[in-house]
Amino acid sequence: MKFWFIAGSQFLYGDETVAQVEKGAAEIAAGLKLPWPVEYKGAVTTTAEIERIIKEANYDDECAGIITFCHTFSPSKMWINGLTLLQKPWLHFHTQLNEAIPDQEIDMDYMNLHQSAHGDREHGFIGARLRLPRKVIAGYWKDSATLQRIADWQRAAIGAVFGRKLKIVRFGDNMREVAVTEGDKVETQIKFGWQVNTWGVGDLAGEMERVTDAEIQALMAEYHTLYDYDDKDVKAIEYQAREEIAIEKILVREGASAFTNTFEDLSGLRQLPGLATQHLLAKGYGYGAEGDWKTAGMTATVKAMYPGGATTFMEDYTYDYASGLILGAHMLEVCPTVAAGKPRIEVHPLGIGGKEAPARLVFEGRAGAAVAASLIDMGGRMRLIAADVECVKPTLAMPNLPVARVMWKPLPDLETGAECWIRAGGAHHTVLSFETNAGVLRDFARITGVEFVSINGDTRPDTLEKELMMGDIIWK
Ligand code: MN
Repeated sequence: MKFWFIAGSQFLYGDETVAQVEKGAAEIAAGLKLPWPVEYKGAVTTTAEIERIIKEANYDDECAGIITFCHTFSPSKMWINGLTLLQKPWLHFHTQLNEAIPDQEIDMDYMNLHQSAHGDREHGFIGARLRLPRKVIAGYWKDSATLQRIADWQRAAIGAVFGRKLKIVRFGDNMREVAVTEGDKVETQIKFGWQVNTWGVGDLAGEMERVTDAEIQALMAEYHTLYDYDDKDVKAIEYQAREEIAIEKILVREGASAFTNTFEDLSGLRQLPGLATQHLLAKGYGYGAEGDWKTAGMTATVKAMYPGGATTFMEDYTYDYASGLILGAHMLEVCPTVAAGKPRIEVHPLGIGGKEAPARLVFEGRAGAAVAASLIDMGGRMRLIAADVECVKPTLAMPNLPVARVMWKPLPDLETGAECWIRAGGAHHTVLSFETNAGVLRDFARITGVEFVSINGDTRPDTLEKELMMGDIIWK
């Protein structure tokens, strides 16, 4: 994927000035060292040029968004016909070729060439007038903090563009009677592009029968290099390998990047996929347990924003009020990218589901700042909630808890953070990521047109309550 850099200008100052605009804008575009490349697409000077380049941006599958900057004044009525067609994420980058004013050299030629301070105000007006969702970043283009902000926006744009092609395979339906994992799949596809559809668990069981022993042994060799385990558990682990191979074959066949399943529908399966799901998560697939396709989609999205990063499906499980910490885990399916050390495969019975004891990865989560995010359906709109959390090395040994476990302090503290989360309606399932931050998810929500709620160190329950009431009016 690439981002297109488009410089706004006009003909008023003559060909020589436009040529200098081209040179300066190309220099800025080439200097933007970011996670995804920026391609300079030229200076635009007419309504027809602007409309053409925006149509091309819409049509080009490798274009993840446009970055505009007005080196000189670029009258904004020229931009209306193009911008009203724009379907890609838009960053208005309010920068300037030179960092400082050259005291001795500055003259009217300089003034006519370096006009973004007022040219970008004209450009900002048309963005506001058209009510278009856009990111605005002001700052010098060589400044590292400015570059970091653009990099963050790129992550959000990549997540949004990824979603337009995301397919989520649901093996079976949602866990019976659960409310928060439900939602409007049609609305979700309209907003995010996610295609959420169901496959029978019997199809998966059939695919598993066709997995060969050679395929299983190849995957076992991979497990062997990545994880520790006891030889007595090999049969159960091989069964998880069979499940993983079959699930991935179906995902690849369908072009899907995320999946769900539920312990309430394992027809034809002997174990709930545990290790299988964890290893698929580590490969970059999204996942949601108990049919939670919204969390599966968000997990896949954040993983697409940060390829290879520490991001997992997660669940708030139990509190330690004594130390102000949350213990996060799941029955099985936590991604080993958040592990502090080498994970261990263990085989233990589950308390529910009535199937054989599944093999799963057991590990402790790493410490560090993270975000827990939850996508919920408020009826008529989606709401994305992101809580800032501080993960810690688990404070307890918990020798009888054979699952992956992560502990964190929600900000500003357990009581306030939990109260705000409950007030906002956040789910027990989340995406937990050590890579992203609330600003990136806010940008993602703006691009996709959904409500965003941040719970952070400054959040107060009374102001959050008012914000949510305002949201009910705004998002009606
Ligand atoms: Mn769950």
